[in-house]
Amino acid sequence: MSGKFIGAHVSAAGGVENAPVNASEIGANAFALFTRNQRQWKAKPLTEDSIKRFKKNCEELGFSPSHILPHDSYLINLGHPEEAGIKKSRDAFLDEMQRCEQLGLKLLNFHPGSHLNKISEDDCLKRIAESINITLSKTSGVTAVIENTAGQGSNVGYRFEHLARIIELTDDRTRVGVCIDTCHGWAAGYDFLTEEGYEKTWDDFEKIIGMEMLKGIHLNDAKKELGSKVDRHASLGEGQMKNVTFSRMMKDNRFDDVPIILETPQPELWPKEIEWLRNEAEK
Ligand SMILES: [Zn+2]
Ligand SMILES: [Zn+2]
Repeated sequence: MSGKFIGAHVSAAGGVENAPVNASEIGANAFALFTRNQRQWKAKPLTEDSIKRFKKNCEELGFSPSHILPHDSYLINLGHPEEAGIKKSRDAFLDEMQRCEQLGLKLLNFHPGSHLNKISEDDCLKRIAESINITLSKTSGVTAVIENTAGQGSNVGYRFEHLARIIELTDDRTRVGVCIDTCHGWAAGYDFLTEEGYEKTWDDFEKIIGMEMLKGIHLNDAKKELGSKVDRHASLGEGQMKNVTFSRMMKDNRFDDVPIILETPQPELWPKEIEWLRNEAEK
């Protein structure tokens, strides 16, 4: 089945097996989740029971692993400039990827990292690529999905060229992909709103990274203006990019079969947002 796969980053409170149930309740056919507490370094291992129930729920509710986009912990910095910091991050990232393996998932979405003003951007990108290589060599079947950033603070990954540079330095391109967050792209200066801006942005993406690398989309409107470098998500149509941007994306078949995930700030609106997107896709 092709077409649009749309969902949101849903809660996994009480156990990962609850995420597909929560996603189904909002009318989603794709979803994102955290497989561990995103604000703590230490995490309890997944239980056999939880793993079994997760897989069963996904199957019964019709979610395929290629439309499930788990997100790693916000604490992890795979480009950390210091030894202790990078070791801690790489250990936690390996645990994240092993959890995905256990759950039968295929993708792991993460923010590339930050140089903390201690190393150059390029050295940071190299460290990130090395972190990916180390993790992929210890796991199998899961693709590392690098997300573009707003360029806030010392985060790298706000230019398509940064993502391409990381990919270029990885050993196994078949297990690396990217996720484009529309709010982050907008904040970093990529215009999705005007027709010319939209075409140019995705043309650049094709030239610099390649459409075949796109494994996920975070669909968020943006509170702040184009190029603000401020990462503030807005509900669809309530920000700077307006409904026209998201309507256009729903009619764009380059995004068929890729999980399209809302990280908009009002979860109570998700059922409506998903329904609206689906209608736009079918118009
Ligand atoms: Zn995002
Ligand atoms: Zn964000």
